[in-house]
Amino acid sequence: MPHLTEVSLMSLPLRRFASLLDEEQIHHAEEVAAAAARRLAGRTWWHVNSTAQGGGVAEMLHPLLGYVRGLGINTRWLVISGKPEFFSITKRLHHLLHGMPGDGGPLDDSERETYEAVMTANLDELMAVVKPGDIVQLHDPQTAGLAPALTRHGAIVLWRSHIGADAANEHTDRGWEFLAPYLGENVAATVFSREAYVPDCCQPDQTMIIPPSIDPFSPKNQEMDEATVRAILVHAGLVEGPQGPGEPLFNDTDGSPQRVNRQADIVHHGPSPGWETPLVVQISRWDPLKDPIGVMQGFADLLHRDELDEVELLLAGPNVSGVSDDPEGATTYDKVVEAWRQLPHATRGRVHLVSLPMVDAKENAAIVNALQRHAAVIVQKSLREGFGLTVTEAMWKGRPVVGSNIGGIQDQIENGVHGLLIDDPTDLHAFGEALREVLTDPERAAQLGDAARQRVEDEYLGVTHLLRWAEVLERIDTRGS
Ligand code: UDP
Repeated sequence: MPHLTEVSLMSLPLRRFASLLDEEQIHHAEEVAAAAARRLAGRTWWHVNSTAQGGGVAEMLHPLLGYVRGLGINTRWLVISGKPEFFSITKRLHHLLHGMPGDGGPLDDSERETYEAVMTANLDELMAVVKPGDIVQLHDPQTAGLAPALTRHGAIVLWRSHIGADAANEHTDRGWEFLAPYLGENVAATVFSREAYVPDCCQPDQTMIIPPSIDPFSPKNQEMDEATVRAILVHAGLVEGPQGPGEPLFNDTDGSPQRVNRQADIVHHGPSPGWETPLVVQISRWDPLKDPIGVMQGFADLLHRDELDEVELLLAGPNVSGVSDDPEGATTYDKVVEAWRQLPHATRGRVHLVSLPMVDAKENAAIVNALQRHAAVIVQKSLREGFGLTVTEAMWKGRPVVGSNIGGIQDQIENGVHGLLIDDPTDLHAFGEALREVLTDPERAAQLGDAARQRVEDEYLGVTHLLRWAEVLERIDTRGS
């Protein structure tokens, strides 16, 4: 069975951004891109990660690589595969790099052996297609171990970590100790989302900071009128009918019309929320670091002490069979359902646990888009967060966000300006109070939402991200030649 899968990429025109940027900005981006294309002529720019869908990395790569292709640069995306033990080890690393103990399991010789065996199996196929001089951008711990062999092969290897911890601790030390032998001299450069995430094993002169971005035209973020939002949510079962005059339609990345066909699996008692019901929404992978149970408890406590008659909570995530590189999803989801069962009867009726269909990533994205637009407030009460694209996505839709003051969320939101931040994500009282603030003051909510949208336009759109990639390429190209 082959180990590598190639993800098919579209070719997207950068000119699309003309509706959002002025001509001078577009022209500048095109010039930078043309210079990068000249520098890369004859080479392929490979991206390698461990999943084509589910989570922030895949979310970003689809459109970004599409624009790179549209600029005439030959870029390709390969996804490695590995056995379940491998993904348990990489998930352990994921937690450690976030500064958390994870499952507390070992990272000894036997784990290294399992990890490297998967690297070797994937390398056999990778070496057959990567040519000396090609750029290979590896993403996250799952692929770091490919770096030494690829560099020896003559490729220029970049390693991009999408995760990290605000402060080093014994757990981050353990994680980086495992990965360090694959980095250092084995890579031309490393890229992190935030300065604070850069570990000692990555030299500052070899490291660049690039925050993630969203694509404003993707099914996840494209404009959607209210009738369509309603039709999609009613069709997916997230909101009670009637569907109204709209149709559950969206545009594919290339602009072709698509339809939401599938329904979500929902755990709740009683009906889905009505169209008029204000919704508190968190959309995340089922991961303990996203603290879905804490969100539910904080919401339940708020209902208990306040007169918020109408509000309901919707926790949404991917159907747990759909994200292959996250072995923890199913167990976390089961724990959330169990905690939901423990809620007082009246509160339980106002909490909906939603598993979104993952068969078609674009359909999933369109449902997420509609849900984010419909939410009265979007929550990201993570205990740890690399960047938090769900926050960016919600901000882009002008939604008020209540998030934890950690990781990349604190870069995106200035507290009280672009959203509300909770200093201690385990402080459920503060979380509830922040929810109450936006739920009871529509003017304040609208103000936060407007500022949020502007912030994303200024900082976190794909075109800005592409310009930063061009800087990295400029730097490593000099090293490689
Ligand atoms: N997401 C999705 N469907 C889901 C749950 C999440 O499309 O059911 C997307 C979400 O919209 C975001 C990404 O997955 O684009 C999650 O990225 P984030 O940076 O928030 O967290 P990560 O999963 O990378 O830790």
